[in-house]
Amino acid sequence: MKVSLDKLIRRETDKIDLSFFEKIDTISYCDKIYELASPVNIKGKIANTNKGLYLKVDVDFTILDHCARCLDQVEVPLEYSIEGFLVKEDNYDEDEFEDFDAFIIDDQEVDLIEIIGQTLEFNAPSAVTCSQECKGLCQGCGANLNIEGCSCNEHTNDEENIDPRFAKLKDLFKTD
Ligand SMILES: [Zn+2]
Ligand SMILES: [Zn+2]
Repeated sequence: MKVSLDKLIRRETDKIDLSFFEKIDTISYCDKIYELASPVNIKGKIANTNKGLYLKVDVDFTILDHCARCLDQVEVPLEYSIEGFLVKEDNYDEDEFEDFDAFIIDDQEVDLIEIIGQTLEFNAPSAVTCSQECKGLCQGCGANLNIEGCSCNEHTNDEENIDPRFAKLKDLFKTD
């Protein structure tokens, strides 16, 4: 999803309107790979301002994550805005853009998917659950407690419920 900035840079136009709806399987950023469960919807514009090229878009799409309790796959719908200057690496001055968000661009074009990748981590929840009532996995045997029961709990409860005095008695009957 690359957009040429030629016309903006040559001042042939003041802004470019962006409207994309495209199916993309994954978005990767650094060592993270996000799987997508929906097309990516992008709407907004890139405009010439006296400080440079300014990108302002609304994005929405659904990523796949795993429930933090039971590890089942969960669809996570995301919807957020991305705003910031598009700056070539040579022109990037940290002080100048201290108070603004800026995205580094390589050349005369910007890759919107790359920018989504850079912003995804801050906009995706760090932990999701498949439902509020998710019972998670049994710590003892790993069973998914949403689907099946297991006898781990009964077992530990039995042990705990033994009166300590009887436990001592039980020891006496142990044969070596
Ligand atoms: Zn779950
Ligand atoms: Zn269990």
